[in-house]
Amino acid sequence: MNRIVIREGVCDLCGTCVGVCPVDCMELTETRLQIDADRCILCEMCVEICPVDALELCDGRSV
Ligand code: SF4
Ligand code: SF4
Repeated sequence: MNRIVIREGVCDLCGTCVGVCPVDCMELTETRLQIDADRCILCEMCVEICPVDALELCDGRSV
């Protein structure tokens, strides 16, 4: 199954992606960003908006 992967060392927890997610499945805590993969519709809006390229759509079949 495809999913959005967070590069944790790259993400600076700015929260920009959380604001664009159309299904509100991203959650930002003080220490990390989490994505509820069950609700994510893989629209990639978060991937496109992230200023530091910390998100990536991963093809589960190749992992
Ligand atoms: S791919 Fe779309 S639905 Fe999934 S976390 Fe990113 S913005 Fe939200
Ligand atoms: S927009 Fe990028 S850097 Fe900012 S919280 Fe989201 S993944 Fe992290």
